[in-house]
Amino acid sequence: MKMEQVSANCFAVLNEKNLVCDANSGLINLGGGVVIDTQSDLAHARQMIEIFGKVWPGIPKRVINTHEDADHVWGNQLFKGAEIIAQRRAAERMKHVADPQETQQLLKAANGSLSSLLLKMLHPGALAIAKQLARDYNFDGIELALPTTVFDERCELNLDGTPVHLIFVGPCHQAGDTIVHVPEEGVLFAGDVLFRLCTPMGWTGTYAKWIETLDLIISLQPKIVVPGHGPVCGLDAVAQMKAYLEYMRSESKRCFEKGLTSLQASEQIDLGPYGTWRAPARLYLNVERAYREFRHEPSDKPWDSAKSFDAIYRVAKARGIEVEF
Ligand SMILES: [Zn+2]
Repeated sequence: MKMEQVSANCFAVLNEKNLVCDANSGLINLGGGVVIDTQSDLAHARQMIEIFGKVWPGIPKRVINTHEDADHVWGNQLFKGAEIIAQRRAAERMKHVADPQETQQLLKAANGSLSSLLLKMLHPGALAIAKQLARDYNFDGIELALPTTVFDERCELNLDGTPVHLIFVGPCHQAGDTIVHVPEEGVLFAGDVLFRLCTPMGWTGTYAKWIETLDLIISLQPKIVVPGHGPVCGLDAVAQMKAYLEYMRSESKRCFEKGLTSLQASEQIDLGPYGTWRAPARLYLNVERAYREFRHEPSDKPWDSAKSFDAIYRVAKARGIEVEF
C-alpha cells in the first residue's frame, strides 16, 4: 500500500497488487478531512489511516462511500463519530451487498479440510477466490457501519471554501455509483466507475449508463483521476476503459448472435490489448452483463456469486492463464 499526493490537498492510497478487493482510498485534506472509501478489512483500513496520518492531523470529519461494495466500506467502523456520506441507493443496498457474514463463512469453509474438499468439487472458483483473499485479507471483526447522511442526485461540500461535488452516476458498476469531483484541484475520484490496468467488474447497471458516465468524466476535464482500482491516471485511461466496454459489448453481441453461451464467448473473445490487464478472465462478468441486456433482463438481476466465480475460473483454465480474480 502506498500514498500518492495528486494535488495540493488531495491524496490517494493505492493497493498496488490490483486484484479484487485491492481498492483505493482517497483523502481531501481540507475542512477537517474527507476520506473516500475505507478498504476491505480492518487491517488495511488501519494501514490506510496510518499512512494518511502523515498528512492529516487526526481522524477525518467525513467519509464518502463511492458505492455499496464491501471493498469500499468495510473500514467504515474505524471512523468513529465521522459523518458517513453515500448515495441513497448505495446506503440502502449496503446491508445486503456488503454483509460480511457470507465472505467470512466462505473463508472458513475454504480453511476446513472437509468443507474445502466439498467446495472444490461444487464450486472450484469460489474456493480459488477464497484462497486468494485469505492470502491478503482477514474479514474477522468487521461490523458494517452504515452511512449517516444520504443524498439523491448531488451533494455539495464546502471545505474551507473549496467546493467538492458528489455526483450520482449509477447504475454503472453498482446501483449507488458516485463520483467525487474537486474542480479547483483538478482531481476526480471515480470509485469503481473506473478500473485501471485491471479487468472491470460490474454488478448492477447498464453499458449505456457506464459509457455515459465515462463521457461525463471526460467532459469535467480533471487533470488527475483516482480510479477505484489501479494506479492514478489521466483522461486517457477513461477513454481506454470506454473503449474496453464498447469492445466487450460488440464482441459479446457477435457471440450472442452466433448462439454461443456467455461462458463460451468469454473463452473465445480475443482479449487484444486488454490481455495484459490483471485478471483478464473477469471478462466473463462483462460478457454476461451484455447477454443480460440482449435478453432484455433487468439491470439489477441478482448474481449467484459462487457460480460467477466458477465461470471466471473455467474461463482462466480454458485460456490457460493464471486463475486470479
Ligand atoms: Zn471495488
